[in-house]
Amino acid sequence: MYSYSKSEMLFGKAKEVIPGGVNSPVRAFKSVGGVPVFMQRAQGPFMYDVDGNRYIDYINSWGPMILGHAYEPVVKAIQEYAAFSTSFGAPTELEIKIAELIVSMVPNIDMVRMVNSGTEACMTALRLARGYTGRNKFIKFEGCYHGHADAFLVSAGSGVATLGIQSVPGVTATVADDTLTAPYNNLPAVEQLIAGNPEQIAAIIVEPVAGNMGCILPQPGFLEGLRQLCDANGILLIFDEVMTGFRLARGGAQELFGIRADLVTFGKIIGAGMPVGAVAGPKAIMENLAPAGKVYQAGTLSGNPIAMIAGYTLLQTLNENPVIYQQLQEKADYLVSGLREAFGASGSVYQINTLGSMLSVHFTEYPIIDFTSASAANNELFRRFFHAMLERGVYLPPSAFESWFMCNALTTEELDATIQAAKAAMQAIKQ
Ligand code: PLP
Repeated sequence: MYSYSKSEMLFGKAKEVIPGGVNSPVRAFKSVGGVPVFMQRAQGPFMYDVDGNRYIDYINSWGPMILGHAYEPVVKAIQEYAAFSTSFGAPTELEIKIAELIVSMVPNIDMVRMVNSGTEACMTALRLARGYTGRNKFIKFEGCYHGHADAFLVSAGSGVATLGIQSVPGVTATVADDTLTAPYNNLPAVEQLIAGNPEQIAAIIVEPVAGNMGCILPQPGFLEGLRQLCDANGILLIFDEVMTGFRLARGGAQELFGIRADLVTFGKIIGAGMPVGAVAGPKAIMENLAPAGKVYQAGTLSGNPIAMIAGYTLLQTLNENPVIYQQLQEKADYLVSGLREAFGASGSVYQINTLGSMLSVHFTEYPIIDFTSASAANNELFRRFFHAMLERGVYLPPSAFESWFMCNALTTEELDATIQAAKAAMQAIKQ
């Protein structure tokens, strides 16, 4: 039996000085209950908590640790660059190198603006789309999460869905009024919104594979349909690739699905887990950003040298070794088929949605295609499954409204251990 006594003690202390004891809501285990596990270190596919427990990690810092934790070339690069300074507040050659690398990897972009988080990236993309089109409204999808800027906290996924918050106090009605929402995978609803708000919609922002209500795949024709609607109505299509970028393919979802976005947002992975985000797109749009244009955006720590060298090292590895994506796919296939066996043997109804190295499990007989179907699954069973897995050394996202992320440091040994844990967990929670 795992003991969590130090985590329990630390959570008690944390609640005195940090609201809710955590610096980002989903970490608090609110939807699965219990005490959040406080981590001490991580290596490869494993995380180790303050009580000395070891976990196979399926969060991977919510995506960026695609090659596993403490990937040696990244650690070494950070150590070397930290000695030069942790921040200059002035441009560096490194920023050009990482921008050039991103432009070479991602289709349909000429320019990249670095920011400090996925939230900032989406916020900037939206402001840019509004500035470029001269329109105010935008469309997002229920259960998609684009960070915590006011405009996006309407029908949001991730922690907002996990905590069941319907409308966020502090977000004014004036701001929320410009956010139009449609169910994911529902083109007719989007068409209706466009028809009802002629020449008022600046952008449609979408997670091309949704990862904030579990993992939900775009149905055939959905992304293509959005592209067509945008083209026909002078609307910019923003792909939020904070989760999918450099993970589903070197060039992200645009490459995988062969669909062009007008703007793309990235997050955590381009800093290899350091606090980074970016917005990217063609010159004609991107040059509207200050100081080239009038759409203002800035950041003291943007392009931070430590984040840039960490990200550059990781992205270069991904760029030079496309076999990584094939290996990740094989590992995901292996895990998913083992999980199907485990759930099948337990007699529980379940759905596994998966693409590349992203997946999620929902306990229901119905396909999970949008926020409504994700919400209708048996999330109480997920809660029990989560804890039964945790006790067996497998760290899953502590909410059914999150995607699992696999890393390439996983070997058959850890995958087999995960499948065995799932079999035992399902037997244990049936009783
Ligand atoms: N967009 C998506 C798709 C995300 O998954 C997230 C966070 O998980 C964000 C935006 C916000 O990124 P950050 O937490 O770095 O602000």
